[in-house]
Amino acid sequence: MKIDYTLHSHTFRCGHAVGDIEDYVSLAVEQGYKIYGVADHVFLPGVYQPTIRGDYSLLDEYIKEFNRVKEKYQDSVEMFLGFECEYSDDFVDYYRSLLEEKGFHFLICGQHMRLDKQGFKSGYFGKDLPLDWSLATYKKDIVDAMKSGLFLYIAHPDLFFVGAHEVNDQYKKMTQDVIEVALQNDAVLEINVHGFLRTRHHKDGEYTIEYPALYFWQEVAKTSIRVVCGGDFHNPNEIGNKKLNDQLEELIKKSGIQLADIREVYTLYKDRLRKIL
Ligand SMILES: [Zn+2]
Ligand SMILES: [Zn+2]
Repeated sequence: MKIDYTLHSHTFRCGHAVGDIEDYVSLAVEQGYKIYGVADHVFLPGVYQPTIRGDYSLLDEYIKEFNRVKEKYQDSVEMFLGFECEYSDDFVDYYRSLLEEKGFHFLICGQHMRLDKQGFKSGYFGKDLPLDWSLATYKKDIVDAMKSGLFLYIAHPDLFFVGAHEVNDQYKKMTQDVIEVALQNDAVLEINVHGFLRTRHHKDGEYTIEYPALYFWQEVAKTSIRVVCGGDFHNPNEIGNKKLNDQLEELIKKSGIQLADIREVYTLYKDRLRKIL
């Protein structure tokens, strides 16, 4: 299996990835990528999170650098400019303006935390948070993201398996709930390749499921939900990384997922944006 696209890739600007756009794209071209989307963690006006996202003041420079690299590699790879965004009512107008006025080709939803105008509100998952609340809150926010129509896809929708020790009834129910809302909203879901790097064994030998979660994708595979993969690269050396590719291949085989055509997914998204913007 040869993956020749990603629409999910970061840059040094977020404060926890290394390399700039060209460092990634030049390697991707060597690896035979046909489509390369840059989608760094969204820069938010008034929000300062230096190890999570780039400062808002970097916006124009990010766009400019993307356009420079896009032009340089135009004969080798098709490039798209995006951001990975947390959904929040407070930022809907800003997200729309990125697509309408700033020339962004797409946005993806990566729901890592709850945000409002002031910035960080809370995380979703953690030992101190009741799992019922975590699952319900995460679900509500990704449903709002799906309903908004602004996002090409939901990145790592199975993020709720973070810290999970077993697929118990709560996780099974949550999986079915996410499937149901994705079907209702015609949402596309992403198998997150970077997620394979997550630590699944803790110091005390405890095992956690994390994401990508095989159970989740096995259930998704039984439905008509369209699924794509996303590199979510934070280091150029993740591009064409054999271990990551093997893990992705194994997950796809074991789950029975059929990957959707990325061009078709993108075309449908652009049709939808034309209607809502
Ligand atoms: Zn990141
Ligand atoms: Zn993410």
